[in-house]
Amino acid sequence: MSALVDLFCQRLSSLLPAELEPHERVKLLTPLRHPLLVSRQRAHLIVDRVRLFALLFALLTPLWGIVDVLAFPNPLWGQLLALRLLVCVAFFCLLLFYRERGRMADAYLAMFILFAIPTLFYISSHTLLAHYQLVDMPAAVAAGYAFLPFVLMAGLALFPLTLLENLLVAMVLLLAQGIAGYLNWSTLNWPSFVGAFWLLILIAGVTGLACMSQLAFMMALLRQAIRDDLTGVFSRGSGEEILQMQWHTSQRNNSALSLAFIDLDRFKEINDLFGHAMGDQALRSASQHIQNCMRSSDSLVRWGGEEFLLIMPDTDMTRARQAMERLRSSGLGQRPDGLPLTASIGLAERYFDHIDLPQQLLELADQRMYHAKASGRDRIHAL
Ligand code: GH3
Ligand code: MG
Ligand code: MG
Repeated sequence: MSALVDLFCQRLSSLLPAELEPHERVKLLTPLRHPLLVSRQRAHLIVDRVRLFALLFALLTPLWGIVDVLAFPNPLWGQLLALRLLVCVAFFCLLLFYRERGRMADAYLAMFILFAIPTLFYISSHTLLAHYQLVDMPAAVAAGYAFLPFVLMAGLALFPLTLLENLLVAMVLLLAQGIAGYLNWSTLNWPSFVGAFWLLILIAGVTGLACMSQLAFMMALLRQAIRDDLTGVFSRGSGEEILQMQWHTSQRNNSALSLAFIDLDRFKEINDLFGHAMGDQALRSASQHIQNCMRSSDSLVRWGGEEFLLIMPDTDMTRARQAMERLRSSGLGQRPDGLPLTASIGLAERYFDHIDLPQQLLELADQRMYHAKASGRDRIHAL
């Protein structure tokens, strides 16, 4: 029996997105604790897709007005055309004027506007059409109006969203469908309304899976692009980007920002005496030890061969020094000869050192690291 359960669990876990590591899979559920670079990339991607969607709607909405003119009596087609032109202007404004600064809040607002415009159009056009007793061709064209919620729900699949975000948007769309039904209470065809509602829920389920698999691919590609292959910590290019972002945040909030430049001591010896593979192993273990000591808001970057940069937001000089003392006393692992692996560490802090540019902060931490080397290695230099 337990073998059967094991087999079931094994099969079930193989269905999860294989491109993600186990600890990353939980990030498909909610947007909490997404790394800064993931959120930034996601915000860019979502706003780009919003623009694409807005362009399509801006062009297609007025074009469909021609069909309305041919099919509907006056003043219905005139009213619908006016609505369509309003929608077209709103979409063009979204396309041309929406600004995004790499924050998820910007992406949420863009999506909200994108879905709010056609939803309002849907509710108002539905209410207008309910006043007319249409038959034959006009009735067929009017029936097409009921497809808008389906288009929106399916369009959601274009976005890399977590399950929670997807549920929230899908619920808003379902709610809009419910409101449209309520407003047309008297003329509502119940069986077809319930059938359509059920279909909308099914599409929402499929869309949820599509959104999460998009997010999984995006996260996996991003990890490959921003992480160092050997140690799994941030690579230098992404480290530079994180430093810039943290610098601006600390300036905006007037908060502390500490930087530790960590250079492993006499590392060349390990390669020379025990081979490159042992050197690689020591590098992996050192990065793991640093990660065990740091906070989840800190970012560890492999800056060069055996050099790491630890970016510590909201950490003043005293606390940064305490953190580095803790790292030094817990150690960076063992060398293959059994001796402790040590490092020389240079520390700098934006406020404490009166620094104006992120590059200066980096240079100062680097200089202090060299000072720590020159004064005997295995130490922290902060002044
Ligand atoms: P110091 O205490 O003065 O820092 O001495 P060091 O030997 O650590 O410094 P040095 O800059 O002379 O040598 C750094 C060495 O790190 C040289 C290079 O072979 C090694 N290294 C750099 N990247 C890697 C890597 O990816 N894998 C391995 N195994 N070794 C690496
Ligand atoms: Mg070095
Ligand atoms: Mg070194």
